[in-house]
Amino acid sequence: MNDLLDTKALWDISYGLYLVTSVSGEKVNGQIANSIIQVCSEKPRIAVSINKDNLTHEYIKKSGLLAVSVLEEDTPMAFIGQFGFKTGRDEDKFEKVAYEKGLTGCPIVTENALSCFEGKVIGSADAGTHTVFIVEITGAKVLKKGTPLTYAYYQQVKKGKAPKNAPTYKAGTVETKEVEEKPKETGMKKYVCGVCGYVYDPKKGDSEAGIPPGTAFEDLPDDWTCPVCGAAKDEFEPE
Ligand code: FE
Repeated sequence: MNDLLDTKALWDISYGLYLVTSVSGEKVNGQIANSIIQVCSEKPRIAVSINKDNLTHEYIKKSGLLAVSVLEEDTPMAFIGQFGFKTGRDEDKFEKVAYEKGLTGCPIVTENALSCFEGKVIGSADAGTHTVFIVEITGAKVLKKGTPLTYAYYQQVKKGKAPKNAPTYKAGTVETKEVEEKPKETGMKKYVCGVCGYVYDPKKGDSEAGIPPGTAFEDLPDDWTCPVCGAAKDEFEPE
């Protein structure tokens, strides 16, 4: 490691977790993003960093429009995985999700969202793998009161990972600086998802799928899938 460039220093930057959507003709797409900040208040403007490989990037480039939903703290991992670890090129991410069409035509997702806003791109900067879009907000509303989901909460409490296209993705490293507790000798191994890095912990089970704590990985039903990315059981390896 280079003493003058300890990138762990950047891990201390705080973020939220958002759903960014866009539109292209009749087509809509959306993805999870953490790099969103408000950059101007008189004319409310935000900056949004999106990976150039993502379909949402393509749509934002074409239409110059995007919408953002601010996710609430107890957003299910499966919902985050649907938008964060899957591509709209393979499936319609909006099939089972509640949304309405905004003034810009972008889909505004109201499920698991505290508030939402939409606007038009007025500028952008090439940041390498990502484009940073500057967006003037033209419509915004509060849907309900609650605690917004932060990236730290997602990582530390929900044990969520960053997909490869996230600006904060760290190849081959553990996502948090937190020291992992030593596994107790229960005889039941933790299993890691080879696609997204989610760790199945038999001590905790998977409450969202109705799997009680104390269920060994081997005893999970055959049709059980990764709660984050939807990968099948055989994508998992012992930790
Ligand atoms: Fe996964």
